[in-house]
Amino acid sequence: MMSDPQITNLANLVEERKDELKQILADLISFPTVSPPARNTSEIQAYIAEYLEALDFQTERWDVFPNDPNLVGIKKGTQSDTYNSLIINGHIDVAEVGDDSSWTVSPFSLTEKAGYLYGRGVSDMKGAVACSLFAVKLLHEEGIDLKGDLQLQTVIGEEVGEAGTLSCIEKGYDADFAMVVDGSNREIHGQGGVITGWVTVKSKEVFHDGMRAELNETGNGASAIEKMPQIIDSLRALEQEWAETKQYPGFKKGTTTINPAVIEGGRHPAFVADECRLWITVHFYPGEDYREVAKEVEDYLKQSVKDDPWFQENPLLFEWGGKSMIEDRGEIFPSAEIDPEHSAIKLLQQSHNTVEQETTSIGMSKTVTDAGWFDDAGIPTAIYGPGKLNEAHSVDEKIEWSELITFTKTMLTFIPTWCNARKQ
Ligand SMILES: [Zn+2]
Repeated sequence: MMSDPQITNLANLVEERKDELKQILADLISFPTVSPPARNTSEIQAYIAEYLEALDFQTERWDVFPNDPNLVGIKKGTQSDTYNSLIINGHIDVAEVGDDSSWTVSPFSLTEKAGYLYGRGVSDMKGAVACSLFAVKLLHEEGIDLKGDLQLQTVIGEEVGEAGTLSCIEKGYDADFAMVVDGSNREIHGQGGVITGWVTVKSKEVFHDGMRAELNETGNGASAIEKMPQIIDSLRALEQEWAETKQYPGFKKGTTTINPAVIEGGRHPAFVADECRLWITVHFYPGEDYREVAKEVEDYLKQSVKDDPWFQENPLLFEWGGKSMIEDRGEIFPSAEIDPEHSAIKLLQQSHNTVEQETTSIGMSKTVTDAGWFDDAGIPTAIYGPGKLNEAHSVDEKIEWSELITFTKTMLTFIPTWCNARKQ
């Protein structure tokens, strides 16, 4: 740990200067970065870039989608090669508001009431981003040099399954540990994963509706719509099988669900349906790889229809994942395991316990975040942030003001201690 007086001093500063933290959050909330429709984050990223540059961070911005740039700010450590580096990652898009008539406060101007702050994104997750920005400002102004590299990533698109964080990884940004500060009620979380997919039944031949009697008689043609129920039944059977055979600590058995979420098919009443498409959502456990999970589903379905002559002629088609629900109608959130023995996890826990005088738990998130992309890239990671899941996406979204202050203090214990410890 950093010397106690230094940490105490930083904690005192957080209290003394907390109005600055509130102002940063008020600024972030004022940008209506709702997603969908997305494509609206250039201005908030410019604001954050300017803020970080004033603290001697080097920044890079690039468009993941038009008018939706990612931002990475890096402050090189004084001994980068031998000391721990850290990524702090947060998304700056927020859930849609839609009709705001049921809101009692304005979603895009920060309101304080009875110890809570209100606004779209305060919990998910501009509150955590504001705390991170405030923390690095205090480190800078107190002249606390870090030996390892510190990196702040503010990414786009998380709310609609857009792989902003994946884009950072593809650009080569990495570190010894990545902390995703999405809401976890200040518990240390890993997560299961999600992949969406399209299963398509498609006939090579197209028939007029008038042919149906003849097709029924000869058994030659088939309606893709009438072929789909057996696929849905098979998915149900596989889901059942997984519930019996798969498990992971921290999850109820049967969490590995396969949801037939959307179905589309047919052209027009004058045709026998030659195509039917099923959009499925597949949940899997930490330690499972989304590529293998997708293959498991494919293999199971192929096996289930292998004796059907029609499917031999017209094989099932599969499309998995995607980098955006908006552009690709598909998404992937890889799973993330937590290693309680990893030095960063231990230190994070210790930092939390020191600040809060209470033991935090290590567990599994009930939702998915971008942490999975770090795990997938081999970067040790954890979700740790302020805010409760039931506040995310809610009407009158709120967060306890004291929670943000506490979280900032924990960050200011963890960051300098981690980045001033030697790589192992
Ligand atoms: Zn979030």
